[in-house]
Amino acid sequence: MEYITAKSVLMVTDSDEWFGSEYNINLYRGCSHGCIYCDSRSDCYAIKHFDTVKAKRNALEILADELSRKRKKGIVSLGSMSDSYNPCEKELELTRGALKLLDRYGFGVTLETKSELVLRDADVLKSISSHSPVIVKFTVTTPYDELAKKLEPKSSSPKKRFAALETLSNAGLFTGVLMTPILPFIEDDSASVISLVDRAASAGCKFAYAGRAFGVTMRDSQRAHFLDKAEKLFPGMKARYLDAFGDDYFCISPRSGELMKTFTERCLQKGLLYTMDPIVAESKRPYETRQISLFDF
Ligand code: SF4
Repeated sequence: MEYITAKSVLMVTDSDEWFGSEYNINLYRGCSHGCIYCDSRSDCYAIKHFDTVKAKRNALEILADELSRKRKKGIVSLGSMSDSYNPCEKELELTRGALKLLDRYGFGVTLETKSELVLRDADVLKSISSHSPVIVKFTVTTPYDELAKKLEPKSSSPKKRFAALETLSNAGLFTGVLMTPILPFIEDDSASVISLVDRAASAGCKFAYAGRAFGVTMRDSQRAHFLDKAEKLFPGMKARYLDAFGDDYFCISPRSGELMKTFTERCLQKGLLYTMDPIVAESKRPYETRQISLFDF
C-alpha cells in the first residue's frame, strides 16, 4: 500500500444511469483483490502497478469541504474503479470516514464490493438510510467458491458475500447482486445463473442485475492481462477467446440470449427486480413518500 495526495475527491457523474448516482468517489487507486478480468486495468485509466493500492491520504479532508459546499444533495457512488473495501481499509477507514461524511451532510450512497469488510460499516449505512437512499451491491460472478478463488483470488468467497448480504438485508438495508461480468466459456452456464439468483433471493436481496447481456468487456492491457491469466488457469482459453471475439470490446457469451431468458424468468419467480429503472425507483421510494407526506401538512 502507498499514499498519494488528492486534489479533489467528489466528481459529478455524467448521468444517473448507474444505480441513480449523481456523484462518484474513489478513495483509492488500484486494487489488490486480483480479479483477472478487472476493467480498471485498462490503459485509459492510467493506473500504474494496479495491484498496489494507493490511498488518498487527504481524501476525507477534501471530501468534507466538497460536500459542505454542494447545494444539491444526491446519491454518491463508491468504488467504481477500486474496491472500497480493500484489505488496507480495515486499518485506514477512509471508506468508513467517507460514509460518515455522507451521513453528516445528507447524501445517499450506492456502493459495490466483493469484501465482507463492508459489514463493519452497517451502522453508518443504517444511519444514512434514515434520511437518504442506500444501495449495497455485492458483485458475484460465480456461485462456486473454488472457481471464484481462481478468478477473484483475494476477494471474499461467494459464500461469505451471500452471508454478508443476508446480514445487511436483515438490518433493513436495500441490497442486491451484480452479476457482471460473466466470463464466456468459464461462468456462462444456466445452473450458475439460477444459483446466483436463488441465493440472492434467499439472502433477502431486492434485486439481481446482469446488464444488457452476459459477457465481459475487454480493452488493451486489460485484455492482455486477462488472456494471460485465463490461459494459465484454463489451458486453451486464450485461443478460444481470440477465435470468438478477436479485439471486440464487449465479449458476449454465445449463450447470452438463453441465459438472459433464464435469468429474467428466475428473477420474476423469486420476486427480484432485475432492470435498472425499477431498482433505482424502489430504492428511492421510501424517501419520496416521506417528501409527499411533508407537503400534506
Ligand atoms: S474488486 Fe473490482 S476493482 Fe478490485 S480487482 Fe476486482 S474487479 Fe478490479
